[in-house]
Amino acid sequence: MQTLRDSLEEAQKNGVAIGHFNVADLVLLKAVFAAAQELKVAVVVGVSEGEREFIGTRQIAVLVRSLREEFDFPIFLNADHTHSLDKAVDAAKAGFDSIVFDLSALPFEENLRQTKEGVETLKKINPAILIEGEIGDIGTGSEIHERVLDVSKGLTSATEAKRFVEATGIDILAPAVGNMHGMVKSMVTGETRKHLDLERIAQIKSAARVPLTLHGGSGTDSEDLRKAIAAGINLVHINTELRVAWRRGLEEALARQPDQVIPYKVLPLAIESVRQVALSRLTLFNNRRV
Ligand SMILES: [Zn+2]
Repeated sequence: MQTLRDSLEEAQKNGVAIGHFNVADLVLLKAVFAAAQELKVAVVVGVSEGEREFIGTRQIAVLVRSLREEFDFPIFLNADHTHSLDKAVDAAKAGFDSIVFDLSALPFEENLRQTKEGVETLKKINPAILIEGEIGDIGTGSEIHERVLDVSKGLTSATEAKRFVEATGIDILAPAVGNMHGMVKSMVTGETRKHLDLERIAQIKSAARVPLTLHGGSGTDSEDLRKAIAAGINLVHINTELRVAWRRGLEEALARQPDQVIPYKVLPLAIESVRQVALSRLTLFNNRRV
């Protein structure tokens, strides 16, 4: 069966990116899987520490594995933003395909030292697991923020990226290239969009020579995303856009059927709302025609 490493190599070769979508329940998981199935493209399901606490680390691992096996489909599972080695170990033992071991809040040298230790520990549990490290500041919280975070001071340099990758042994790097987690209201309405430092992405790619992840993809200008993928981004994270669609779909479903109490008659509209967003982002990441 195809591994996440295989899919990343294929994406790099074809000049496309794999979509990474966070899920917290079955509505989101079904929507993401349906979108990927429709386009027949590999997809990564992500669960943050909070999402894992809600859905269950071992439970989501079994769900995603069951989809992969039953449909013989390249759907993978990532432990998103894991801040402690204990939680990373739990995810590795549960059979996750990858872990974002995120110590980016620490000073650079300390981040480097602890990430290296983490890679060694986690690869002992599963030598095939992919570990993603993170440097720079891209903010926290995939939600609606009051104001735009100034990310200009925490950008990743190509020199740092190269040193970090070589010293830690990480498989994937998440750099700070103008991206940020969450969206502001004007991004939800589409009045404003995030823009990326495309030149920096290209420099980091040629220095680091590993797959690159773009976090906080929600609300990013589509043309910037296309160019970022061409410059070397191999994975794009989308969370807030799905959460907005989840809420809107749910509200609409409840409003349309005020007396309905059967979950499987209410929730399909929420699934459809999320599926459309995932489908449109996957279409873009995979260079497909709309
Ligand atoms: Zn992220």
